[in-house]
Amino acid sequence: MLDKSEGIVIRTIPYGESHIIVKVYTKERGKIALMAKGAKKPKSQFAAIAQPYAHAYFTFYYRQSMSTLSQGEMLHSFRHLRENLDKGAYAAYLLELLDAATEEHVPSPATFSLILSMLGRLRDGDDLDVIKMLFELKMTHLLGIRPQLDACVNCGRTSGVFSFSVREAGFLCHHCIEIDPYRYSLDDKQVKLLRMLYYVKPDQLGQLALNDQNKIALKTVIDGYYESYAGLNLKTKRFLDQWVNWNPDLPK
Ligand SMILES: [Zn+2]
Repeated sequence: MLDKSEGIVIRTIPYGESHIIVKVYTKERGKIALMAKGAKKPKSQFAAIAQPYAHAYFTFYYRQSMSTLSQGEMLHSFRHLRENLDKGAYAAYLLELLDAATEEHVPSPATFSLILSMLGRLRDGDDLDVIKMLFELKMTHLLGIRPQLDACVNCGRTSGVFSFSVREAGFLCHHCIEIDPYRYSLDDKQVKLLRMLYYVKPDQLGQLALNDQNKIALKTVIDGYYESYAGLNLKTKRFLDQWVNWNPDLPK
């Protein structure tokens, strides 16, 4: 059956002497693997779209195991993300996280819109860390590890002074802080930012610039949460952490 879907290339895997397996996150089919025959050859019609970040219409013979790419029509190459080291490090992590958080053949148009919007924002120069943290918070849903950010995870209170408990997987109010001595203290602004990044629709997110203090507070919470629950050990995350530590222009 010939099928057509809009998709974004998550990664590519060389196959044999001349072929490339292209892993694509599609709007209609979810994540699928496409065999792009002959794509390694420079003159191949697939050479341009068999590249990470390529946003294209893919026409393919759909099969559960491995679909075969028949045609590709580039919409946007996101070449800029491959050429800019800072943005590229963030974009590579987003795609690897998406790959880790999704099963094949499970469509989620909302997730497709999210990754497309996030890559566009990285390209356009939005705050890299805000994009990363927003995406990480959204992916908790697909990973099955959603934190409780609506109320105190222990008593259900919705007002007061909140901390974040990794162990309890959500906010703790000031009456309940003692149940987790390792909680992260947050100020009111940081609590609101964390909720906002978790709930905001990407197309409603304006230009957000967080100061370094807020970024570090949120990053510490999210990293701690992922380390405890996600069970991921992503190469691109390790690279990104090293890159940020080494790069004097990026917040630690
Ligand atoms: Zn409480």
